[in-house]
Amino acid sequence: MTIRLGRWTAELYQRAIYITRGPNPDCRHCRGEGGIEVGHRMTDSGDIDYDTDVCGCWDPAGFRIPLWRRSRRNQAVPF
Ligand SMILES: [Zn+2]
Repeated sequence: MTIRLGRWTAELYQRAIYITRGPNPDCRHCRGEGGIEVGHRMTDSGDIDYDTDVCGCWDPAGFRIPLWRRSRRNQAVPF
């Protein structure tokens, strides 16, 4: 299940929610595409292959919110 709120995407899983933020649509660097061109090279077939990098306005990794607490056994310090 996926919920989209503007730039934010929340994916619901059984044990966690994954939150990711999309690129800024007003970004001057990537024009809202989330990737910036950092160079290009010719491929063997003569096409141009563009190297892109993730723009600073975008965090594709996002973060995770666990829905369940770990059991006490797993939290215990082993000493
Ligand atoms: Zn950007």
